[in-house]
Amino acid sequence: MKSLLKWLRPREAAMARLVGQFARAESPSLDKAAVDRFGRLVAAEWRRRGAQVALLRQRQRGDHVRAEWNPSGRRAQGQILVLGHLDTVYGLGTLARMPFRISRGRAFGPGVFDMKGGLVIALFAIDALAEAKLTPGKRIVFLWTSDEEIGSETSRAVIEREAQRSSAVLVLEPAAGPLGLVKTGRKGVGEIELIATGRAAHAGLNPEDGVNAIQEIALQIARISQWNQPRRGITVNAGVIEGGTRTNVIPEHARVVVDLRAERAEDMRALGRKFRELRPILRGAKLQIRGGFNRPPMERRASARLYDCARALAKEMGVTLGEAYVGGGSDGNFTAAVGVPTLDGLGAVGEGAHSPQENIRIGALPERAALVAGLLATL
Ligand SMILES: [Zn+2]
Repeated sequence: MKSLLKWLRPREAAMARLVGQFARAESPSLDKAAVDRFGRLVAAEWRRRGAQVALLRQRQRGDHVRAEWNPSGRRAQGQILVLGHLDTVYGLGTLARMPFRISRGRAFGPGVFDMKGGLVIALFAIDALAEAKLTPGKRIVFLWTSDEEIGSETSRAVIEREAQRSSAVLVLEPAAGPLGLVKTGRKGVGEIELIATGRAAHAGLNPEDGVNAIQEIALQIARISQWNQPRRGITVNAGVIEGGTRTNVIPEHARVVVDLRAERAEDMRALGRKFRELRPILRGAKLQIRGGFNRPPMERRASARLYDCARALAKEMGVTLGEAYVGGGSDGNFTAAVGVPTLDGLGAVGEGAHSPQENIRIGALPERAALVAGLLATL
């Protein structure tokens, strides 16, 4: 580990230069020609390192880049998948307002953090391994996709296929926080709609004939809000509410849309069941329940072993590596959901993703590359 880092440290400036070259090749998800141009630049870097590179061509979005690095040739036993994306959220021309620049040990520019820094980390990890003559026992497939920032529609199938052939997946998405935490858990996410139907009546003349749908929904919200268990990672949030027509009418219709999140698959299932078992509270009201969980959680146990391994390697370098749970999703959700151990957030350390201040800490690049190299050599 120490020797990998020792070789990488003096290459900090070269790493930052390559991040700059990558950031200047703008690659907004929706601009196929631009993403393809950047993809060819990345492909050239991999070919220079002796990787077998294939462009997974397609019409709709940019071509995905698959680079296979297999220094042990036929003796390779199994596969490790390294995952990242070529696209950024920044439209073409953003570079003019937000030029690549280096200031006080940080590199600024569109996509440096999410996640061109991660692409550079992977390249230098391979350089360090080659220099140290450390030959991974497994075939290593680097998959750089073109549409992560817009939902991975064209890449999901290839991501899942490559993951199923692999014993581990390393995701080079940005690290969490200034300490560079890796991501060992992502919540499952769902959306449920409750629709109440009551009976309309005049609020003054015959209120006793009415059934108030808004009141029904309000009572249901009070009930489901008690299912929040923030410490266990379960959140239930009524985010949108609609109902009623006029103040002097007892409302017949009302609905609420609820955001659900859970850290554990069992909690997710239990919560879904509780929603489906909801019955009307007011006499004469009807209740309909639609939706459910749509993204499974990445549970910590799916990445625990990989995290332990990464932490031990970091310790050898004298670095304490922490972990984080995050609420949002990444392509790591897909690979964890097909049952393959996945460690996310191994990319650059920085801040301001998707904002004009997006930047990375240059001094952390060699450490991150050494960590990835160490994982590839030992897994
Ligand atoms: Zn990303």
